[in-house]
Amino acid sequence: MEIVIVGNGPAGVAAAEAIRKSGLECSVTVVSKESEPFYSPCPLAEYVEGSVSRDSLFMRDGDFYRRSRIDLLAGCAAVSLDPSSRRIGVSRSGRIEHLSYDRLLVASGAATAFPPVSGLSGAPGVFTLKTLADADAILENVGGTERAVVIGSGFIGLEAVQALVRRGLKVTVVEAMGQVLPQMLDADFAARVQARLETFEVEVLLDSPVRRVTQGPNGVASVVAGDREIACQMVVCATGVRPDLSWLAGSGVAVDRGVIVNDRMETNLPNVYAAGDVIQAPDWAGRLDLLPNWPNAVASGRVAGASMAGESRKFTGLLPVNAVRIFGQPVSSFGVRGGEQVVAAGEGGAARKLFLEGGQIVGGQFLGDVSGSGVFLEMMRKRVDASFLDGTALSGRWSVAAMLREPPRVRSLAG
Ligand SMILES: Cc1cc2nc3c(=O)[nH]c(=O)nc-3n(C[C@H](O)[C@H](O)[C@H](O)COP(=O)(O)OP(=O)(O)OC[C@H]3O[C@@H](n4cnc5c(N)ncnc54)[C@H](O)[C@@H]3O)c2cc1C
Repeated sequence: MEIVIVGNGPAGVAAAEAIRKSGLECSVTVVSKESEPFYSPCPLAEYVEGSVSRDSLFMRDGDFYRRSRIDLLAGCAAVSLDPSSRRIGVSRSGRIEHLSYDRLLVASGAATAFPPVSGLSGAPGVFTLKTLADADAILENVGGTERAVVIGSGFIGLEAVQALVRRGLKVTVVEAMGQVLPQMLDADFAARVQARLETFEVEVLLDSPVRRVTQGPNGVASVVAGDREIACQMVVCATGVRPDLSWLAGSGVAVDRGVIVNDRMETNLPNVYAAGDVIQAPDWAGRLDLLPNWPNAVASGRVAGASMAGESRKFTGLLPVNAVRIFGQPVSSFGVRGGEQVVAAGEGGAARKLFLEGGQIVGGQFLGDVSGSGVFLEMMRKRVDASFLDGTALSGRWSVAAMLREPPRVRSLAG
């Protein structure tokens, strides 16, 4: 049996490990566009700012692939899928080769989604922060740069802002929407994040969609956003990610915004599975969504690996969770917004907000103090009755241990 996995990120690696754990006798080949072994992109901003070493990004030891009997084809991009002959086309050193599979996993992740703006994608002086190669490219160019513009104030954009500020650059962040962290926070919490950014001398321009990036004799010269033109020598585009489905064109695999999978991570094509950022799947509440994050990639990758190995394991749904630090201040959110709000203020400007529908938690936002957010997330996932929660209860110390000391909450959790 030959198993081929496209993508060497957490979804692909979790799947490969689940296959080896199952004991199935098979070959496992991982095809990876990137040349590095498995690493985490989550601390890439810290790597750029210099607080995290390059070595610490790598998630497995140097012997991992040999020991796990995984054949890693690094620097090799899948370019096509032909389910009728059960082969994928791969581009290696400029030549197209074909790889046969008995079972295939699509774990090729997502790519930066550039807005349709002239002079942006691929232009000199314009960077993204998606891969280790992107981070290395920023580091190679940051020396001698005084001013940077970061496009997009999602969590990756704001991580890039902090890294560049800590490298000594003056940074402007431009955001098309009317607030920072528009996917994560309500406007009132976002205003407090913005104030914190401004304390660190970050210029924040809201309602400012990028219209143009101009080039000068020495590279990028300015970004035109809203009604402003901001002079700069570096641009980082962090306008979100989108599944990269281009290599699957013509294969017949069912896609919408991502690859559609069932709860065993099977696609509509026989013997073809998908996991990680590339998938569109039901979330914890059954809504079909794209929810690119590390825990979802690992969880779906494990289920895909087990399914490919013939085990029966079911995916319980994507979890909408996000976390970021804004100059040391933790911010996190989960779930959706809407319904009844319970708000609480904590010490030192910390704030918490939960959204309840029919007495159940459907979402939450945390500023400054994120302790307990995991407890509320679990309550949401398990659909625990949370109707007892009010501002006073929410402002308390929340931990599993605290909950076990509180009889009403124990009853709620057991439900
Ligand atoms: C800067 C940054 C910070 C982040 N921080 C967090 C965080 O704090 N918490 C969190 O939960 N998530 C975070 N994420 C998101 C998280 O890293 C992703 O959700 C996760 O890596 C997705 O895993 P994946 O295996 O699906 O895809 P990826 O990790 O994207 O891996 C897919 C791999 O497939 C390769 N590939 C793509 N196309 C092909 C092809 N055609 N042929 C061969 N190979 C291909 C890609 O190059 C890539 O190496 C962050 C992401 C970034 C970029």
